[in-house]
Amino acid sequence: MAIPEKGKNKEEVLRILDDYKKDDVKWREGKVFAYTFSAGLEADEVIKEAYMKYLSENGLDPTSFPSLARIDTEVVRFVADLLRGGPDAVGNFTSGGTESIMLAIKTARDRAAAEKGITKPEMVVPQSAHSAFHKAAQYFGVKLVMTKCDDDFRANVEAMRGAINENTVILVGSAPSYAQGVMDPIPEIGQLALEHDILFHVDACMGGIMLSFMREMEEFDIPDFDFTVPGVTSVSADLHKFGYAAKGASVIVYKNKEIREHQIFATTATTAYAMFNATMLSSRSGGPMAGAWAIINYLGREGYEQIIREVMDGVKRMYEGINAIDGLYILGKPIMSIFAFASEDINVFQLADEMTKRGWHIQGQFSNENTPHNIHLTFMRTNVPRVEEFLKDLKECVEEVKSSDNKIDFEAVREQVENMLTTFGDDAANQLLAIGGLEDTGTSSRIEEMAMINTIMDALPTDVSKELLVKFVNNLYR
Ligand SMILES: *Cc1c(COP(=O)(O)O)cnc(C)c1O
Repeated sequence: MAIPEKGKNKEEVLRILDDYKKDDVKWREGKVFAYTFSAGLEADEVIKEAYMKYLSENGLDPTSFPSLARIDTEVVRFVADLLRGGPDAVGNFTSGGTESIMLAIKTARDRAAAEKGITKPEMVVPQSAHSAFHKAAQYFGVKLVMTKCDDDFRANVEAMRGAINENTVILVGSAPSYAQGVMDPIPEIGQLALEHDILFHVDACMGGIMLSFMREMEEFDIPDFDFTVPGVTSVSADLHKFGYAAKGASVIVYKNKEIREHQIFATTATTAYAMFNATMLSSRSGGPMAGAWAIINYLGREGYEQIIREVMDGVKRMYEGINAIDGLYILGKPIMSIFAFASEDINVFQLADEMTKRGWHIQGQFSNENTPHNIHLTFMRTNVPRVEEFLKDLKECVEEVKSSDNKIDFEAVREQVENMLTTFGDDAANQLLAIGGLEDTGTSSRIEEMAMINTIMDALPTDVSKELLVKFVNNLYR
């Protein structure tokens, strides 16, 4: 596809984009349980205008745009204060949770090299922790030692203790984990970090903002997960999730400057000007920062608390409704508004497909030794008015899957997959892609029938499913 020879007028350009958009999930209607966090129409307008004020301003150089440096500092101080970091805490605004987490790992690697001469760094990461830690491991050459979780889906502290060795540079805990929304035993992991004199990162990308507000509200009981916990040395908190900012907004906070120093990049070695970056990106729009600053100031503590009340009331009705549906049950003890449910008798990937046909978007998650395959829901304000309708459809869809002639049986698929793996050997990923008809899936349309693909993925060893995914994505983007 070549760039058009002649430019189009503004109306035409925007009309085409609207046309491209028509198959996207209709998140504003409240039927999507992921991706888009909104504090309401007016709040979104405030963010949009603030974002646009800084659309073209560059966060690259805070000395040329002192207003952006000020906005950055204020946003970071807001979050550091929420996380009770005290006067020594320092932080940076980043593009998202992934960047915040990757920076925390890079910082731990470089600090351990400088202070302890560790050249083969390792991190101890519970299986429930976010994939961003695995990404950091791959990108930065830090070995990831994964530990099992307990039956309640929380990190197992003894397993983590057993995984620590002289090369361990950092421990990880989630507040809460994405998959089941449960809180890891942060104080116990903190003790472990202190005993071994290593860093401890708390991934509060989901919970950092919301749980900090909930802690101050009478109706909730939130255990400490922030800098008040001894041993915690860094915390990531996303503003673009339950902080309701526009995407591209997260904060990484460190206990002090001495640790953060290892995050910062600078060089004077090139033919260009002296270069420094506190975070990963170099040139970047001031929009996300201004948008985040705007929503925090627009909502204030009271605004956040009011949204939390609405959302948590909806969550309560969701739990009751889901548990009341025959065979379905909530996994573990989720602490806020992200949670997962499983089924005793049906294939939940088929359930998700049935719900997709009715316009809902819910996410299937894979099984492991102590986790059944399950459905994740990130429950947001947009979903609140839809609770009853959701539960009604969910109940009907469960019945539909139960009475369907087309039940996908996990055991049968597992057997077939094992046979295929033996037959195809090293070519398994390619062959499976062909069988699944996934070779030619373009980026332009959504895939509605995911149950078979998910069931196969669930049955595959992780190294094969990973290879399969890489090939799939490599085909997806042309
Ligand atoms: C969303 C999330 C991340 C990653 O954040 P992105 O903003 O998507 O990069 C990390 N950890 C947890 C627990 C999350 O929910």
